[in-house]
Amino acid sequence: MNFLDEERQAWKNSVRRWVDREIGREYVRKCDMERAFPYEAYEKAAKLGFHRLLVPEADGGDGGDVFSYALMCESLSAYGVDFSVAIAGGIFTAMNFSLHGTDDQKTRFLQPFMRGEIRFPISMSEPNAGSDVANVQTRAERDGDDYVLNGQKLWCSGAGNRGAVILMLVRTAQTSDKRDGLSVFIVPNDLPGLTIRPLQTLARRSVVTTEIFLDSVRVPAANMLGAPGEGFKIIAGEHLALERIAVAASYVGNAQGAVDDALAYAKQRVQFGKPIFEFQVIRHMLADMQTQTDAARLLTYRAADLAARGMPCRKEVAMAKLFASETLQNVSRQAMQIFGGIGTTPEADVERYFREGMQATIGGGTSQIQRTIIAQEMRI
Ligand SMILES: Cc1cc2nc3c(=O)[nH]c(=O)nc-3n(C[C@H](O)[C@H](O)[C@H](O)COP(=O)(O)OP(=O)(O)OC[C@H]3O[C@@H](n4cnc5c(N)ncnc54)[C@H](O)[C@@H]3O)c2cc1C
Repeated sequence: MNFLDEERQAWKNSVRRWVDREIGREYVRKCDMERAFPYEAYEKAAKLGFHRLLVPEADGGDGGDVFSYALMCESLSAYGVDFSVAIAGGIFTAMNFSLHGTDDQKTRFLQPFMRGEIRFPISMSEPNAGSDVANVQTRAERDGDDYVLNGQKLWCSGAGNRGAVILMLVRTAQTSDKRDGLSVFIVPNDLPGLTIRPLQTLARRSVVTTEIFLDSVRVPAANMLGAPGEGFKIIAGEHLALERIAVAASYVGNAQGAVDDALAYAKQRVQFGKPIFEFQVIRHMLADMQTQTDAARLLTYRAADLAARGMPCRKEVAMAKLFASETLQNVSRQAMQIFGGIGTTPEADVERYFREGMQATIGGGTSQIQRTIIAQEMRI
């Protein structure tokens, strides 16, 4: 049974064909190995209108829905989640402009984003604000027409790349409930007082994850997104739901890539006089891998479908993120086992998928936090 109608299937296939014809696995591998952002691919994607997909028509976008976005992420990640994050990760951040931006902010930032001229990293995390994201300590103080920002952000993926405009969660007030004192600022990465350092992380190597030091960084008050104190609602609510659907779909796409690569290898690798696919233990591993990947895909499609129809889906999004991330981790580990020694080298690609799998259960909210959300939403 095919759960996608003809139009959705055609869209998913067309993005996948683009990845295979215009990009290719060698390019994705090279960007990962060289820790280099895929600028050429980003520009090609923008020319095709990928960055307009979710933006409403009133803001100059194509007004597509979350399901179409999820399918795009799934196809973009056939050779690695990092590539999908590089090309399409800014889209979930861009939606904050559509939902909360002023006309001036949309003109200055959303329009050039849709043209592929700038990128939107998101910076929530800090040394003491990980899972407990409301514990943000970086502070902004009003000074005339500006805010002055001081502090340290951690784990911001893509902050150092050319044309990066960071959406940053910052404390603007000390409040009894720490969630109420947070606001969002639009911070171009070339402002004086910003120091951005790359981190040598296991995954997210082409996007490049960074730490950011802020020493009296002046940001115009006109660069606050939404009202003061609305930061937690904007980022931890709407933003994270969309981010988690996008990454879940990317994990599914990469898990399918791992299954496909392992299957192809098992059919051509000969040991003891026959392809290793002929050994039942290998066949059963592949059967389990495909079954788990299909289950992750269905959970992700359910979450994307609910979100596209504007239905409540906090639990379903957490389930999709949890199951898809653990699927990628499990399936990529099994794929590496099927490849044997060669699987531990970059040229075999499953080594990259394996690293993505380890990252998947941490970034975007850990598996433990997803289980906590699911339990909170369970009713008799
Ligand atoms: C490569 C990489 C890229 C990233 N990119 C970004 C980015 O672009 N922007 C951004 O803002 N952040 C980013 N992050 C940060 C990421 O979202 C956090 O790492 C993640 O939310 C976990 O926070 P932490 O690392 O501080 O772990 P902690 O919160 O310290 O957690 C440590 C352990 O304790 C567990 N734990 C914590 N609280 C609970 C609880 N209440 N119940 C049960 N278990 C709990 C966690 O599940 C985990 O196992 C990135 C991280 C990495 C590694």
